[in-house]
Amino acid sequence: MRLLISGGCGFIGSNLVRHVLATTGHDVVNLDAQTYAGRAGNLDDLDDHPRYRLVVGDVARAETVRPLVREADAVLHLAAESHVDRSITDASAFMRTNVLGTQVLLDTLRDDPAGAAKPLVHVSTDEVFGDLPLDGGGAFDADSPVRPSSPYAASKAAADHLCLAWHRTFGLDTRVLNASNNFGPWQFPEKVIPRFITRLLRGQTVPLYGDGRNVRDWLHVLDHCDAILAVLERGAAGRRYVVGGDNPRSNLELTRALLSLTGGSENLIERVPDRPGHDLRYAVDNTEASRALGWQPTRSAWPGALAETVDWYRNHEAWWSPLLENSTER
Ligand code: NAD
Repeated sequence: MRLLISGGCGFIGSNLVRHVLATTGHDVVNLDAQTYAGRAGNLDDLDDHPRYRLVVGDVARAETVRPLVREADAVLHLAAESHVDRSITDASAFMRTNVLGTQVLLDTLRDDPAGAAKPLVHVSTDEVFGDLPLDGGGAFDADSPVRPSSPYAASKAAADHLCLAWHRTFGLDTRVLNASNNFGPWQFPEKVIPRFITRLLRGQTVPLYGDGRNVRDWLHVLDHCDAILAVLERGAAGRRYVVGGDNPRSNLELTRALLSLTGGSENLIERVPDRPGHDLRYAVDNTEASRALGWQPTRSAWPGALAETVDWYRNHEAWWSPLLENSTER
């Protein structure tokens, strides 16, 4: 297959490009605008790869997208603004890339004579479902109501709706994958895990929101890449799939695990005011993904996967150190 991957220079995208080239025979065209989060350097070693091509461009520009969609057999759509805190400061770029960019991609597929036969996997987030009570049970699945809390999550929810509406109205083969929080190598150090690791490796304090009780279900990025390929290979048109790492942890638990892996003490925790609208708990029921896709997380379990991640950042300071100037305050 000739795959068009949008956003392939970002955290998940760069892991996905490598994963596809290493584990399949597919060709990859990576369309990426190389915003602050999309580093060409993440994929430097692939410059001469015979099955890989980078196109620097904007997913919201139809003239850029059209020829790439024409030559592709399938689209894996990851290009997005992805940081909740930035969306609270200014949501404009989130609406443009996440919503308008998705519409442009969908319209381009609709207008392609062969477009209906080209699956598009929209790589989305479990944050579209809002949150669950901290002390209650329950978990998100494909039938959970869509109730986004943040501007970021609202923009991703809008894009999910567009994908499913373009299936119903225009017969496109769109599939939506809502994954829980990812961790692993090449994550921009504004997100909590690389931000905390890189600060702790420098002996700096880590800013913990509120009381630290908020729970995230941590999914290793390579488990997520497997899920994206499973949706492409075994998913069905017009369907939503939800995947998580079976690895729910409070932010305080995460912080303590990172302190232990980096040899830091509790007094490096700096309590900071909570994020506005901060989601309390995310949890994912993997039953349907396992049944329909034959997918399960195999690399997400802690402490092993977290320790490997800490080691990766310890060994890649030359990559993350220059990026710290660009990261948001917390
Ligand atoms: P990221 O911010 O690291 O990367 C986003 C990439 O998109 C960057 O390479 C950036 O240059 C590119 N991009 C931004 N605007 C663009 C535009 N207009 N045109 C073309 N490219 C553009 O994000 P990530 O964490 O790798 O997330 C990738 C996708 O996965 C996003 O759609 C996100 O919503 C989704 N997702 C992320 C997580 C997570 O925990 N990180 C979890 C579930 C889903």
